[in-house]
Amino acid sequence: MRIVERPSPNYEARESPVAFVVLHYTGMQDAETALARLCDPEPMAGRYPGPWQDPALDPETRLGRASSHYCVAEDGTIYRLVPEDKRAWHAGLSSWKGKVGLNDCSVGIEIVNGGHDFGLPDFPEVQIKTVIDLVREILARHKLTASDVVGHSDIAPERKYDPGEKFPWRRLAEEGVSVWPRAASFEGLETLSPGQTGEAVAALQRDLAAFGYGLPQTGVYDPMTQTVVDSFQRRFRPERIDGIADGKTRALLHALLR
Ligand SMILES: [Zn+2]
Repeated sequence: MRIVERPSPNYEARESPVAFVVLHYTGMQDAETALARLCDPEPMAGRYPGPWQDPALDPETRLGRASSHYCVAEDGTIYRLVPEDKRAWHAGLSSWKGKVGLNDCSVGIEIVNGGHDFGLPDFPEVQIKTVIDLVREILARHKLTASDVVGHSDIAPERKYDPGEKFPWRRLAEEGVSVWPRAASFEGLETLSPGQTGEAVAALQRDLAAFGYGLPQTGVYDPMTQTVVDSFQRRFRPERIDGIADGKTRALLHALLR
């Protein structure tokens, strides 16, 4: 693996052990723009024009400082921005497996990709191979397992779509650095839809929370439940992302929990 040092000033002391690896896409036009943003101690709106930003925004508007531990370019170059023993700023408001504020306890990897704002480009093979190798090393270093690798959209489903439905989660699982559900029968599993209430909805929420999502068990298929189902599908059922828990979606979730 080719690692290029590109130190970012955007970090602080880490108090908690690393428990998760969080994968992102950069969602910007190119690697250089993303690296500049991740290393900028005083980011201002005018420096990062793009479709994600209101064009009416004053260019002098201060943006939040951001960083990640690594950034993997399309050609497979790995940039190291923040040492793993420091706390980088990539997750924001987030929750997974009962932990909140995942910056405390995760290593963040930004994967250079334009994302939804740039038509969801494919991830080049060399880039994915590099991400797999890098994640494998991080898991070994911190004694973590494949189930400790998550996407930004898993831990912040109300705000984030990255690394996006084009990201090859299944491939990562085949390489042992993520999880993927075994084929499961969905016979007898009825579709649960927004607005529904009852024990089946409560069980769905319980299962989603057991997998890791920060989702309260209200027994009502509320907007938050729909958002979490949408996020689940983005990762495990990219051919259907509609926030409706049909039989197959429910069966995939059951298979992951087994
Ligand atoms: Zn992200």
